Amino acid sequence: MTAARLDGTAMARELRAGFASRVERLAAAGVRPGLAVILVGDDPASQVYVRNKVQACEAIGIRSDRFVFAADAAPAEVLDRIGALNADPQVHGILVQLPLPKHFDEQQVLEVIGAEKDVDGFHRDNVGALSQGRPRFVPCTPRGVLAMLDAAGVELRGKEAVVVGRSNIVGKPMAQLLTARDATVTVCHSRTADLATHTRRADVLVVAAGRPRMVTADMIKPGAVVVDVGIHRGAEGRLCGDVDYDGCRTVASLISPVPGGVGPMTITMLLGNTLDAAERRAALG
Ligand code: NAD
Repeated sequence: MTAARLDGTAMARELRAGFASRVERLAAAGVRPGLAVILVGDDPASQVYVRNKVQACEAIGIRSDRFVFAADAAPAEVLDRIGALNADPQVHGILVQLPLPKHFDEQQVLEVIGAEKDVDGFHRDNVGALSQGRPRFVPCTPRGVLAMLDAAGVELRGKEAVVVGRSNIVGKPMAQLLTARDATVTVCHSRTADLATHTRRADVLVVAAGRPRMVTADMIKPGAVVVDVGIHRGAEGRLCGDVDYDGCRTVASLISPVPGGVGPMTITMLLGNTLDAAERRAALG
């Protein structure tokens, strides 16, 4: 068997094309959606992520303002800026690029963002709303994975879904989204004994462990749908994921590549969340 590819680039292009009419509808109501992106420090990967987010916004007509702080900025400076952005009616979404420098308390910073502008979905109000099954802002990566599965017509009801990773930004919300869609969900993590016995049961396997090519062909069930969230820059700058793509595509039925899989979907969901925020404020949603 050779798996079909879950082409995140093509799916993202289609979804973004569909956003144009939402931007036009907002414009007709006198609203230009706006996203504020805060970057602290000079981590090169974060700089690339922020640049990509800003460009993606501008390409569909979302205004995007970048606020850059030095690596040794005082937390109060950043908190003050967030306070000002919370009060600014032109700003519909606020995003703080993670990770923050060590002297910041990340959760404290995330809680200061107004929950109605929290387009990353990390504020505890939004985390709670998702866990209660009445989501407002869903974190972009798991939302993107679900959109990908939907676009490919993957049935989730009654299926065995296994999520590898239990982070607040990917694994936990992913498990909640899959549960809400009636999959039977197992969450694995760094202390899971015999990971492969779990992954081999999965009809749908989502891997977000942050370990290059950790999931190999012998760990997946024939015909499984495999979504690889991981992203790593290897030797010579080549990107790879948490899944051994070449090996696993001979066993799976559908598999997402890295690059060109979850990454473009994540940014697309950020655009979607920002439009949701603007529509809600304009009472168009
Ligand atoms: P994280 O480090 O916060 O969490 C990793 C999780 O994996 C932890 O819960 C840990 O318990 C688990 N884990 C680690 N080693 C394991 C092992 N050997 N077996 C089973 N579980 C194990 O990472 P994260 O923020 O959730 O990100 C995971 C990966 O996804 C990273 O590679 C990250 O770069 C990538 N990522 C990609 C996107 C995207 O848009 N494509 C977005 C977010 C994160």
